[in-house]
Amino acid sequence: MRHPPLIFHKRNNMFVIRSFMILLLSCITIRINLCLSSNTASLKTLSVGGHFTFDKVHHAAKDFGNRFQLLPLAVLHPKSVSDIATTIRHICQLGPYSELTVAARGHGHSLQGQAQAHQGIVINMESLQSPKMHITAGNNPYVDVSGGELWITILRESLKYGLAPKSWTDYLHLTVGGTLSNAGVSGQAFRHGPQISNVHQLEVVTGKGEIVNCSENLNGDLFHSVLGGLGQFGIITRARISLEPAPDMVKWIRVLYSDFTTFSRDQERLISAESTFDYIEGFVIVNRTGLLNNWRSSFNPQDPVQASQFQSDGRTLYCLELAKYFNKGTMEEQNEVRRNSQPSYILHELFSKVTILNHSHTYSDI
Ligand SMILES: Cc1cc2nc3c(=O)[nH]c(=O)nc-3n(C[C@H](O)[C@H](O)[C@H](O)COP(=O)(O)OP(=O)(O)OC[C@H]3O[C@@H](n4cnc5c(N)ncnc54)[C@H](O)[C@@H]3O)c2cc1C
Repeated sequence: MRHPPLIFHKRNNMFVIRSFMILLLSCITIRINLCLSSNTASLKTLSVGGHFTFDKVHHAAKDFGNRFQLLPLAVLHPKSVSDIATTIRHICQLGPYSELTVAARGHGHSLQGQAQAHQGIVINMESLQSPKMHITAGNNPYVDVSGGELWITILRESLKYGLAPKSWTDYLHLTVGGTLSNAGVSGQAFRHGPQISNVHQLEVVTGKGEIVNCSENLNGDLFHSVLGGLGQFGIITRARISLEPAPDMVKWIRVLYSDFTTFSRDQERLISAESTFDYIEGFVIVNRTGLLNNWRSSFNPQDPVQASQFQSDGRTLYCLELAKYFNKGTMEEQNEVRRNSQPSYILHELFSKVTILNHSHTYSDI
């Protein structure tokens, strides 16, 4: 019996392998399409007070970092916490084969796509209007807010009561849920800790779609996991945040250094001093055109020592940003703090509190 030549066997095998690969890829594509369309159909059956969008979802695939663009299948615009709970319960019931992932989106100021969900569901937390912001004054004042509330709105509302949150971020157009999922750090953190250390209690939607209240003493594990949990342990739908009396005015001072050792020595000394500033933050400036090169504009041209005299082109500068709170009539007291602290190079301006706390809104919004 004659056997076919070896080359014929090889061609035959290649043909079988190619056919198999094409079949496999087709099956995967069909399965993905079936999965997506059945996921879409099942989401459309959900009864929510808000709504889903399936078409205009490109905004949810962008963030401040502009490095990742992961298009979601749908965006939920929740009206209440139960819209979020219903959706997550539904996804949980669909099981892992749906391959649906979920991401809460605050103001989208992440840098690496953390608030995006590839072919999943993005929850637009800024749509969540409940609970309405409620401020409780008294000896230990606090504010109850939705997880999608912007810090700038909290500042404006609490100032009406003569109050302000204790701990901040520099930039205030960020949401409560967004910064509490990270830490929330600014110049008050040396005194009060980051924002996550100034939360009394939270309402959270868990991965099973349950609505759970938590605090230090109630469901403490969940409380501590969600705070700083990068959105992986539940969705913050409400937070009770500590407030303090707001000062009438703030003295804002920026101190520039060209030498890192002097800069860090001054910063450590100021942070550990007993009578010191209420806000101390250090940062690095690369002196070239760009986002952070607005530092010259923050110096008063009338000041005897002009920022323009500071020979710094192309160099790395270090800046201490300091603020002292005071009420009208106690100006001399805060001047005393400045005299005693003696940092090497001082220029200063006077601002009302809302101005200093929102001074970083020169960053462009996305
Ligand atoms: C210009 C600029 C200035 C900044 N300044 C500071 C600063 O001074 N101090 C500081 O600490 N940080 C600062 N950041 C970082 C910022 O705090 C984080 O990027 C923060 O996560 C952004 O908040 P967001 O509302 O935009 O959240 P998003 O970017 O939308 O979300 C961030 C993360 O939180 C999760 N998340 C959002 N909402 C919720 C929720 N309700 N429940 C659970 N998880 C949620 C998201 O899934 C995601 O993982 C700054 C960022 C930018 C772009």
